[in-house]
Amino acid sequence: MEKTGFSRFEISISVLNALNKKGWEKPTEIQRETLPSALRGKDIIGQAQTGSGKTAAFGIPIIEATNPKKVVQAIVLCPTRELAIQVAEEMNWLQGDKGLIIENVYGGTDLERQAKKLEAGVDVVVGTPGRVIDMAKRGHLPLSKIKTFCLDEADRMLDMGFFPDVTWIFEQAPNREQTMLFSATFPQEVLDASEELMNEPEQVFTGGTEIEIPAIEQKHIRVGRGNKLWALGRILLTLNENDQMLIFTNTKRMADLLVERLAKHRFDGIALHGEIPQKKRERILTDFRNGIFSTLVATDVAARGIDIDTITHVVNYDLPVETESYVHRIGRTGRMGRSGVAWSLVSSEDAPQLDRISSTWNLSIPKSEPPDLPDNVDRDPVRRREDWGEISDPFGMVRIEISLTKREISKRELAEWLRKEAKIPELAIGNISIGNASTIIEIHVEKAGTTMELLKRRQWNGSNLNPALLERPAVALNRNSQLV
Ligand code: AMP
Repeated sequence: MEKTGFSRFEISISVLNALNKKGWEKPTEIQRETLPSALRGKDIIGQAQTGSGKTAAFGIPIIEATNPKKVVQAIVLCPTRELAIQVAEEMNWLQGDKGLIIENVYGGTDLERQAKKLEAGVDVVVGTPGRVIDMAKRGHLPLSKIKTFCLDEADRMLDMGFFPDVTWIFEQAPNREQTMLFSATFPQEVLDASEELMNEPEQVFTGGTEIEIPAIEQKHIRVGRGNKLWALGRILLTLNENDQMLIFTNTKRMADLLVERLAKHRFDGIALHGEIPQKKRERILTDFRNGIFSTLVATDVAARGIDIDTITHVVNYDLPVETESYVHRIGRTGRMGRSGVAWSLVSSEDAPQLDRISSTWNLSIPKSEPPDLPDNVDRDPVRRREDWGEISDPFGMVRIEISLTKREISKRELAEWLRKEAKIPELAIGNISIGNASTIIEIHVEKAGTTMELLKRRQWNGSNLNPALLERPAVALNRNSQLV
């Protein structure tokens, strides 16, 4: 057991005891690959996503290289407060009884209190760049004695425009001896920065240079905006007692709105986004982690780095604008090898973005019907609406199939009948194709509702018409492209 565990590394007894107590038996890939060099003080570039165990990969070497002297000797910069909190929490238990003071420094909390804590003496700072700079400029956070400098989720920091801040902080720490940089992906700017910040770093890429895609089931449901709530209701009904769902929206407003709508249909959900005060966000996350409620509706930034092992379902209510966010989002479930499922609700407008996501990351996100209603439920929690926009083609035409055939009616007769009986203006009637088994009529979306009603009620020569709406036709798109 000794050889497969953490004791093969040069790790102190206090950390080994802490790992033992926590029940960690084997290092993860990123830990296995980085710990030997990182513990010797080498610079490290590590490719690792959240959930891979990267916190300990840099946390343990920092703990080992730092002594309890109430002088800031190491700093970890994270893109979000939530991630900073999580990293500090993990480093705190990892250090066992070493006695290091590991302190968070991030915005949204009381400046005075934070300053006091820092002035009382701190060994390791885990923070977000803005507040770190603020504290340093105000003279509460001396950076000059820093020996170990770590950037967590560097690609995300770049996305969020933190790179100039990171460089500034870096420059205030001229005595650093070791730099570690972790990132899920390596855009050119991150590579350039790493060249600038590091000295012949050891490069560790886990699972190739590609971002690691969690091995979880991914599916998408084609559904118009107006029926996303209906589809979500179906998915929510599949949750088992201990399951937890993280739903993503692209805006804060949408997150709030969705929580409100869910509440109307008696689903418990809580929103998490940047406008919610920091203290409350922390409380929400703790409650979620403790299973006090089962559904969290979050924006990307707020959910970034959330480490909650119990999440079993991720739902993209809105598809993310950046393709990479998709991978980060679905990485919230299926963590450490647990099973999970990620659903994406995709309207016709979202469809090209889904294609981009699946081709960029080489993913298969098959189309699926929404889950069936469970046996003990006989009614949808959210009623499905007719979503004309979703089924109309680019010309605004909706296709209705009726059961009349060539033998019963001619095109002219049918067009005439639609104009006279249904009072459909000529312009609103598109192609009519009469077949051997059924007939398809195109009607403009504005008249589609009334036409459907009429077709349901009327008969033609004594037979029912059995109208059915057809899905948005692919041929219409072809027709569109021929026009170009
Ligand atoms: P991270 O990628 O650092 O956010 O880690 C993801 C999750 O895996 C966290 O809950 C860690 O506490 C946990 N973890 C990391 N390394 C190990 C390990 N070697 N054994 C068991 N759990 C781990």
